[in-house]
Amino acid sequence: MIIRRQSKPLKIGDVTVGGDAPIVVQSMAKTDTRDVKATVKQIKELSDCGCQIARVAVPDFEAAQAISTIRKKTSIPIIADVHFDYRLALESLKAGADGLRLNPGNIREREQVIAVVKMARQRQIPIRIGVNAGSLPHSSKSGLSTAQRMVTIALEQIKLLESLDYDLIKVSLKAFDVLTTIEAYRTIASKIPYPFHLGITEAGLPRAGAVRSAVGIGILLYEGIGDTIRVSLSTHPCEEVYTALEILKTLGLRENGPTLISCPSCGRSEVDIIGLAESVDKKLRKINRPIKIAVMGCVVNGPGEAKEADVGIACGKGKGAIFRKGKIVSTVAERDFFKALMAEVYNILN
Ligand code: SF4
Repeated sequence: MIIRRQSKPLKIGDVTVGGDAPIVVQSMAKTDTRDVKATVKQIKELSDCGCQIARVAVPDFEAAQAISTIRKKTSIPIIADVHFDYRLALESLKAGADGLRLNPGNIREREQVIAVVKMARQRQIPIRIGVNAGSLPHSSKSGLSTAQRMVTIALEQIKLLESLDYDLIKVSLKAFDVLTTIEAYRTIASKIPYPFHLGITEAGLPRAGAVRSAVGIGILLYEGIGDTIRVSLSTHPCEEVYTALEILKTLGLRENGPTLISCPSCGRSEVDIIGLAESVDKKLRKINRPIKIAVMGCVVNGPGEAKEADVGIACGKGKGAIFRKGKIVSTVAERDFFKALMAEVYNILN
């Protein structure tokens, strides 16, 4: 059983992050924020696939101002991702951003940080102190490991925010290197009460990125560390959300949504089991209820190997067996495999 680190909850829009709240899945729009139409479309896609908070890049004033319209046309909270120029954070707050991400590695001037914190405090908007191993200031190098430097800079920034009577703080310590990321979060976990945003930065293309994220984020979550997660992948952001949801489901931290169990296929299979599993997986993305579905490649071993599934199909040449909890309930022709399995899924859900 996972015992979660107790963190101080905060609200981003209407979503609670930290405390006893379920771990929140977030992602980032990959569109040009100034292109309001494209960004709204992508955030709606993200929301439909299970994303609870969306971040947008704010490279200039036009992007910051666009948040105002984007927010009105979307239903999930919007976080403004700001680097280098504190004035973009101020403009994003004026535009109605629900949260800010600031990188303490590139907004260093104390007075600038103070200006942002004052406005965020007035509006009760949370700030994520988003430390990134790739943008640590030179001054924090002195003989410390990368993880220690990340922690040091985060603690410096937290101290400044606390001195301004501001505690709507969320922290992330991201690195491409999984072990560095784990070390950084473990080191800071007992030092501060604030919720953590977890992620492995620039994780890569879907296959490698999903593995790195699952290992890094998964280890930390297993240790009870983490309140919101973002998987970074070089692909459509909905894939990030699906991967994040799989990580949570695998650890028993998220109940909703279906789980697909599919056999790897072997010499016993006489049908295209991989193609069938892919079609079922695509269809299941539209379902938000907990159900375990198995797609198995042979009648001999399939039902037994997938006993824990609520419903499944064991495919043989020309026909297949639909089973529930390992017990065969009907036999269907090969051309009806997909249709019959999905009909059984909806039977259970309705
Ligand atoms: Fe092979 Fe059948 Fe097991 Fe699939 S269910 S891996 S086809 S033995």
